[in-house]
Amino acid sequence: MSSNAKADLVITGRIATLGGDDGFGWQPGIAIHGGRVVAIGDRAALEPLVGPATERWRLGDDMSVMPGITDAHLHLMTLVLAERQVDLTGANLDAALQMIGTRHRAMAAVGDADGWLLGHGWSLQSLGSWPDSAVLESVAAGRPIALYSHDHHTRWVSRPALELAAIAAAADPAGGLIRRDPAGQPTGILHEVASALVDPAIPSPSPDELVAALGRVSAVLHGLGLTGCHDPGELTSNSDIERGPVFYRATAASGRLPLRVHSSVRAAQLERAIELGLFSGQSVDPDLNHDERSARRADRYRMGWLKLFADGSLGSRSAALLAPYADASVNPPTGGPTGMVLTEASELAALLRRAASAGISGQVHAIGDAAVRTVLDVFAGTLTPTDEGVPHGRQLMPRIEHAQLVDPADMARFGVLGVAASLHPVHLRSDAAMARVPWGDRSENTFPLRALVDGGALIPMGTDAPVEPADPWPGIAVAVARRDPFDTSERQTGTHHAISLARALRAACLDPALVAGERDLGRLLPGYRADLLVVPASAWNEPFAPADFASLRPLATLLDGEVVHRSSGFGR
Ligand SMILES: [Zn+2]
Repeated sequence: MSSNAKADLVITGRIATLGGDDGFGWQPGIAIHGGRVVAIGDRAALEPLVGPATERWRLGDDMSVMPGITDAHLHLMTLVLAERQVDLTGANLDAALQMIGTRHRAMAAVGDADGWLLGHGWSLQSLGSWPDSAVLESVAAGRPIALYSHDHHTRWVSRPALELAAIAAAADPAGGLIRRDPAGQPTGILHEVASALVDPAIPSPSPDELVAALGRVSAVLHGLGLTGCHDPGELTSNSDIERGPVFYRATAASGRLPLRVHSSVRAAQLERAIELGLFSGQSVDPDLNHDERSARRADRYRMGWLKLFADGSLGSRSAALLAPYADASVNPPTGGPTGMVLTEASELAALLRRAASAGISGQVHAIGDAAVRTVLDVFAGTLTPTDEGVPHGRQLMPRIEHAQLVDPADMARFGVLGVAASLHPVHLRSDAAMARVPWGDRSENTFPLRALVDGGALIPMGTDAPVEPADPWPGIAVAVARRDPFDTSERQTGTHHAISLARALRAACLDPALVAGERDLGRLLPGYRADLLVVPASAWNEPFAPADFASLRPLATLLDGEVVHRSSGFGR
């Protein structure tokens, strides 16, 4: 900022800057210019920056400011694609079939007799047993249908879908399973990697349709307090890179990316990414942009990580455990008594080395304690520590996604190795009860936040949306309360792994920036980007009230200093 430039906006009130190493870093005021924080402090510090064009927000005692939230694991493209899909969340079989039949008839009524009907959200728990293609035929005859399960590890497809994708003749892919009846015919359930077998048969929307849907989805996310996300890629294994980094980069370059996005690639996309010269942390070429504002908008894109999978999930009973599922004899887990290994350690290592040679860092999905240990071992064997700044010589910090069940012997290894634990504590809400039987006493070590932090690990927080809703507030509340914030009757899980509200807030706002090597994001200090939220000050009431906190909604959301969301009650 030049000496005579005045602030665009000055806000006075309680500002949680997240400055320093811990706590909220309270300050009484903040000044913003050119999309960045230019000063913090009291009246004396800010008044010289106020000019005739400076906007002033004087917040009352009931409001407060905090940095914008970055969801470190949000399948943004999946949300964009799901925007018009049937949502079967919580439905039993009858209700699900009714919704599918209704959509089928609505499509037929506008002349769409055989287009794909897509959906998501069903679960084995809600339906009671694995469904099949025959019941789909009974409500939507002749329609190709593909419905992701709630955890996106399984797909329920119709007979026409099986035919269009030639699945009857296909063998089980590595890391996948096609459910078959005693006669060897596919039943309509595709597990893990096999769930992607129908993708080549499903037409992709045009880039303009995607940009429009991204705008609608982002408006919802802004209203929830998100200013950025790390998109680990679509929930399929062979999706086109054109819908990943290539799409986000082009959208940012044209000034139409409404969120900061780190976009990762999948194993099947790695060679293409290398061929295109993509590397972790890469941004849009700054020469493309003329003025300051379009340069800021273009700078919202970053290339992310290589996303790999070590195991399955708790919900699909395919997470890889050190000891067998406690209920394996009565309810066989998917893949075997200890779950399912999706990628062998040697292959994980080979892929990570290949990526590293091109400057692409790794992030590996590991939910069960065996998978977490394997991935830590692989990182230990493939990372070479270097002296300065960038962890282990990579542009971005290596990370384990979910780290849901961690053996106590492995908890301190994250900090030692410099591997981030990308956690989704909100999963405790739906998973805690479900984990108690198969995981037994081990479930007390679910999401061991306290031990990870004490061991020096970063814990970037996310929701894994659309597996859970993209609302970030319940997850922050769960990290503190260790139970469903809205259900006081629910038993807490692993209370010794609870963290403070200030630390949980850092996990939501700051740790995602740190793992991405961004030194100007996630705090509200001079030089940092002006991504911030105005929130009700009741958020910080003592004692902590989980249900109140989990229902928080920002009154205003600013990205690059621009107001991207303003609630009707915020009249400034
Ligand atoms: Zn995910």
